[in-house]
Amino acid sequence: MQNDITALSSEFDAALAAANSATALDELRVRYFGRKGGLIPALFSRLKEVPKEQKKDVGDALNKLRDRIESELKEKTERIAAEEAGRKEARETLDVTLPARKPRLGHLHPVTLVRQEVEQLFREMTYTIDPGPEIETDWYNFEALNFTPDHPARDTQDTFFVDVVEKGGHLPGAPLLLRTHTSNVQIRSMEKWKPPVKVLSCGRVYRRDEITMRRSPMFHQAEGFVVDRGIHIGHLRATLEFMIRRLFGPDSKMRMRPSFFPFTEPSAEVDMSCIFCRGAGCGTCSQTGWMEILGCGMIHPQVLRNCGIDPEEWSGFAFGMGLDRVAMLKYDIPNIRTIFENDLRVLEQF
Ligand SMILES: [Zn+2]
Repeated sequence: MQNDITALSSEFDAALAAANSATALDELRVRYFGRKGGLIPALFSRLKEVPKEQKKDVGDALNKLRDRIESELKEKTERIAAEEAGRKEARETLDVTLPARKPRLGHLHPVTLVRQEVEQLFREMTYTIDPGPEIETDWYNFEALNFTPDHPARDTQDTFFVDVVEKGGHLPGAPLLLRTHTSNVQIRSMEKWKPPVKVLSCGRVYRRDEITMRRSPMFHQAEGFVVDRGIHIGHLRATLEFMIRRLFGPDSKMRMRPSFFPFTEPSAEVDMSCIFCRGAGCGTCSQTGWMEILGCGMIHPQVLRNCGIDPEEWSGFAFGMGLDRVAMLKYDIPNIRTIFENDLRVLEQF
């Protein structure tokens, strides 16, 4: 009997050392104290077989073994539970050294960025910023700007007309239209404010064009004009040079080529030195070193007269520039469709 107690004691030591989980310890508890077939109760039941004179010693040894197994099982169970809790806590602890998650911020559209830049540099030259209306009458979009009645731009082939007619105005009963350029703002501003006026107008314009790499039926223009005493073409050139250098870098060059617009006389197309080859000649500029950037001219005397301004006393210049084209050049976007598709993978780069 004493031998059995000693054997069970060392067997327990080995089993306890091997049991490293709450489940294994539970199994040990059943093995030693289980109501059916528990090893400790089995030994106690054999006490009655022990001779009387040994009973006390064997009983003491058996009690000692039971108490030891009980307390060691309890101690290890608690230790393992504490370790589990510790590991769980470590998993849930906030690691302040992790990099912070970036909040998702919105982006300004490339055309908006260019518009803001253009508006800012003209604001510095004390221009009034006035976007003007997108739905316009024939008078402000064509007639007052000296377009002849049979000018092709007035055709339904080129202009979007709206199913609403002009009430009163200069041509009562004529259909309204979506402006084909921002030049309508010239007439509206000269009517509203008598000269001197300095206005910059940025906004959407519409033409019945097919969508191609370079063209879209809706695009953005910036229109600037000045009317004052003694304004001459030198003022125009200096203003455009200032703008082009601010937008494309201080070493940008420009040149003017004679052109024709109904509302300016003389008129010019303006080229600037190619921003890709800086004038040396490359594929983008067809080896010329120049790229077309805007149209401009001195405001036609008839346009001034149409606004009740005496061309003998006042003169002015005007220019119109495509903002989408500026954005495409500045950000190297080859296709205008990219600008209007609103693909987040593109927009997030700005
Ligand atoms: Zn080039």
